[in-house]
Amino acid sequence: MEKFDVIIIGAGAAGLFCAAQAGQRGRRVLLLDNGKKPGRKILMSGGGRCNFTNLYTDPAAYLSHNPHFSKSALARYTQWDFIDLVNRHGIAWHEKTLGQLFCDDSAQQIVELLMKECQQGNVTLRLRSEVLNVERDEHGYTMQLNGGTVQAEKLVIASGGLSMPGLGATPFGYKLAEQFGLRVFPTRAALVPFTLHKPLLDHLQTLSGVSLPTVMTAEDGTVFKEAMLFTHRGLSGPAVLQLSSYWQPGEFVTIDLSPAQDLDVFINEERAGHPNQSLKNTLAKVLPKRLIEVLQTLAVVPDVTLKQLNSRQQSELVATLHQWRVQPNGTEGYRTAEVTLGGVDTTQLSSKTMEARDVAGLYFIGEVVDVTGWLGGYNFQWAWSSAWACAQAL
Ligand code: FAD
Repeated sequence: MEKFDVIIIGAGAAGLFCAAQAGQRGRRVLLLDNGKKPGRKILMSGGGRCNFTNLYTDPAAYLSHNPHFSKSALARYTQWDFIDLVNRHGIAWHEKTLGQLFCDDSAQQIVELLMKECQQGNVTLRLRSEVLNVERDEHGYTMQLNGGTVQAEKLVIASGGLSMPGLGATPFGYKLAEQFGLRVFPTRAALVPFTLHKPLLDHLQTLSGVSLPTVMTAEDGTVFKEAMLFTHRGLSGPAVLQLSSYWQPGEFVTIDLSPAQDLDVFINEERAGHPNQSLKNTLAKVLPKRLIEVLQTLAVVPDVTLKQLNSRQQSELVATLHQWRVQPNGTEGYRTAEVTLGGVDTTQLSSKTMEARDVAGLYFIGEVVDVTGWLGGYNFQWAWSSAWACAQAL
């Protein structure tokens, strides 16, 4: 049997960073992953450029049954700390929008950074490792792996959520939490596109690829001002991904398709100058032409000139375009979701160390915990912050 001080399960963002930090603090660390290579989600992230943090990281950008839980770790290891680390590794980055920081070159650089940090900490990394069972006794945690038996005083679960099973996601962390008597909140795909019911989908499918700025509101009042994208299955784009975290099946979302322009004022001004202009061509000045065409087939946009448009028609049209109510059929689910809502109940963990209060030596970090960030680098920042906080206690 091989003995270590710490065993970490999951060589994703949180596991790699925690392993590196604990190793550099002198702990003998074994890092296990079921995949062929470490950090697979990092490599896929941010369109291959990894949106590794957000300048405006704040606990308010995280969903959890316990909104206070993330505060301590986010304050102790901040976005500025991770930016410092990125700078020390000479990785060039840029802000794309809304404080979202991306590598100029490739997400591979972030994985290389984490691997170098692990090497500095003499971390033992074992890939293609399956954990067959975990037992706890007075010596700590003993694990049967596909390649032998390992033991450590401390066990860190960094096995992530359920999104993208193709990238190695498993319910391991949730099951292990339950094995040791911890509560796990039901999980749900988040940061995920909406699917639409027929016949609306049939009409909107022709818009696949069309994107426009929107303001989108969930039934609970949560608002995001970001772009929306029509897809062949329904709706996507940052506004939709963000709102999906706040949406429950059966609920409507309200979409302002023209947030920058008061359409009532715009139509009145246009009518004054060009009364014989078609409504369709008028709206095409401020909205995608293909969208107007589809809205005409849906009878939202009447086939009239501006002088023919009566005030009832105008107010109905303006109300629909500024407050388009759509009832999604569902989401695309874990197959395409970026993250998983729910997970290990934080009231049972120390917000300072991530250790289970009633199970000494057992820690949960990263996405397996019931802390889920907005789109925009917030989820990686949670991975770094929770991993760092945990590593200080190992
Ligand atoms: P993960 O990174 O998922 O790592 C978990 C690891 O555990 C994996 O390597 C997995 O193989 C391993 N594992 C699972 N089960 C087992 C088991 N039974 N035995 C052994 N190993 C196991 N967030 C951002 O902030 N910015 C982005 O740009 C961004 N882009 C994303 C793009 C995509 C396509 C996806 C899917 C997610 C994206 N995210 C992004 C979210 C972000 O990737 C996750 O929140 C983050 O990776 C969570 O880190 P983690 O270490 O907790 O889990």
